[in-house]
Amino acid sequence: MLIYDLTYVELIKYLEEKGFKKYRADQIWHWLYKQKVSDFDQMVNIPKDILNLLKENFSLNALELVVDTKSSDGTIKALFALHDGHLIETVLMQHYYGKSVCVTTQVGCNIGCSFCASGQLKKKRDLTSGEIIAQVIAMSRLLNDRVSHIVVMGIGEPFDNYKNLLKFLNVINDPKGLEIGARHITVSTSGLVPKIRDFADLNTQVNLAISLHAPNNEIRSELMKINKSFPIEKVIEAVRYYIEKTNRRVTIEYILIDGLNDKVEHAVELSNLLRGLNLYVNLIPYNEVKEAGYRRSTKANQLAFYDTLKKRGINSTLRKEQGHDIDAACGQLRSQHLEKEI
Ligand code: SAH
Ligand code: SF4
Repeated sequence: MLIYDLTYVELIKYLEEKGFKKYRADQIWHWLYKQKVSDFDQMVNIPKDILNLLKENFSLNALELVVDTKSSDGTIKALFALHDGHLIETVLMQHYYGKSVCVTTQVGCNIGCSFCASGQLKKKRDLTSGEIIAQVIAMSRLLNDRVSHIVVMGIGEPFDNYKNLLKFLNVINDPKGLEIGARHITVSTSGLVPKIRDFADLNTQVNLAISLHAPNNEIRSELMKINKSFPIEKVIEAVRYYIEKTNRRVTIEYILIDGLNDKVEHAVELSNLLRGLNLYVNLIPYNEVKEAGYRRSTKANQLAFYDTLKKRGINSTLRKEQGHDIDAACGQLRSQHLEKEI
């Protein structure tokens, strides 16, 4: 088991059961999350008997770096191998307000959206919370700097790995852990309605992003087969519930695909669907995935879509792409690498 798999409370319980004092957990966590050591022997104020116990029962090395690439805008993309050989990817983006890491939550994804590289690889397994935390620590080490923001937007559907997601959020948010403020964390979901409601009931300050990508059920079902289980109106109802419960503004993600969902009439329909809700729309020019066959919206259509939303009173941003020259879109580096292996 990875030592990162334990919450602070779990580590205290573990140590107390073995007859050790609670403050040892504070010391160990300091080494793990403040110093980010890569070897138990670096924990110099921990007595030998505790170190031996930790070494025998836990591992500190979750990830092996396979390859990393850096693009001109400072985005770093890393491909890691897990202990069982599965490959995952993690992205670090540099913004004026800080450094943000995009983490993977599953090996592959069963939601199977037609436009997405990750969805073309069936889920092999969930990541443990420790494996998700380890990605943040690894990127922080690569960068030799603190990570200030987290986006849960890598490979996988986070709400399909709900328990581990919550544990991950707990540890990265803990002041004794990575101490990343809830308002600096964003979880993106394809719209698992019951989980959106559960997440709302937790009443955290964590930001929620919804991958909507369409203004109606016809288009959404073509892009995201999960829309057949949780149609667009149910997703919007759950979003409304989330906003009422948490008083937080929700992000709606909308990828712009040429000719499919990027016409002015779609923007009009979308604005009618979203009117009156405390949210904003993040428009994302589609990153082309070879096998999917969709094309990116033209610059003119992107701007016309954006203008239409603005005129109709919907807050939106047109995302500046990051890491485009190194395939920063979800799952692309990994799928290319797998292709090479085959
Ligand atoms: N499974 C979750 C989170 C991971 S995907 C979700 O779907 O929300 C993170 C975001 O990247 C989602 O909004 C997803 O739709 C988007 N995305 C996936 N493939 C993309 C691509 N090729 N180009 C642009 N955005 C993409
Ligand atoms: Fe999975 Fe999200 Fe990709 Fe859909 S967009 S296949 S939910 S990772």
